[in-house]
Amino acid sequence: TGAIDINDLSKIYDPEGERVVAVEGMDLDVEAEEFVALLGPSGCGKSTVMECIAGYLEPTDGEVLVDGNTISEPDPKRGVVFQENRLFPWKTIKENVEFGPRMHKGVEEGRAESILDEMGLDGFEASYPSGLSGGMQQRAELARLLANDPAIMLMDEPFSALDALTKEIMQKKLLEVWERDNRTVLFITHDVEEAILLADRVVIMTARPGQVKDVIDVDIERP
Ligand code: ADP
Ligand code: ADP
Repeated sequence: TGAIDINDLSKIYDPEGERVVAVEGMDLDVEAEEFVALLGPSGCGKSTVMECIAGYLEPTDGEVLVDGNTISEPDPKRGVVFQENRLFPWKTIKENVEFGPRMHKGVEEGRAESILDEMGLDGFEASYPSGLSGGMQQRAELARLLANDPAIMLMDEPFSALDALTKEIMQKKLLEVWERDNRTVLFITHDVEEAILLADRVVIMTARPGQVKDVIDVDIERP
């Protein structure tokens, strides 16, 4: 599972007023377990597409299918990570990671610890997000996403705010968990190098209104 099928998707913000046509007539298929990068200039509609897949936004026109079904609401099976982490500042790192699974299906004993360990956050379970560096916070965000065991990982410039070294570490981590767990990844970036480094397929979008301009199959050795 994890296939995404976008058919003739359009999204207009404020259709009765200013009318911002963010995405117009976009088609895109992502196969289950594929790693696709969505690349395009700022403002071209990448986040809008992602939020439609996540179920945060309703398409103005067209449809977004996940495993053949229309999306009606957000689902932890489609985990989302943003550039700025959305950790709860009043919860510890461990509580943050446990929050999703606890809400949705009950948390397995020891699962949060093992994921935190894997993300290199061993010893930071009781820390609050503000006590961690930006890179550590983003690791915690990735840990929180993985705790929900999502079939689809929707990532909106997750590493853009990180320093070069931390970014490289996180990219490797992401590839590790993707390859091991057979997840589908849609990864938004405006960084060509990052797109080619990570993805099987790079989908290039036109400037707003967003449409698919080109699709490149990448065939290089991953780091
Ligand atoms: P990207 O992720 O590629 O930077 P976005 O999807 O964030 O692009 O935005 C696409 C366009 O839609 C931009 O012109 C942006 O200003 C506009 N936009 C995004 N969200 C809203 C909103 N809530 N209301 C009005 N316009 C919006
Ligand atoms: P990004 O480029 O990283 O996708 P933005 O900075 O464009 O994000 O947008 C951040 C938030 O502001 C998003 O939730 C988006 O929907 C909203 N937004 C963006 N542009 C507009 C706009 N013109 N009017 C209202 N909300 C907007």
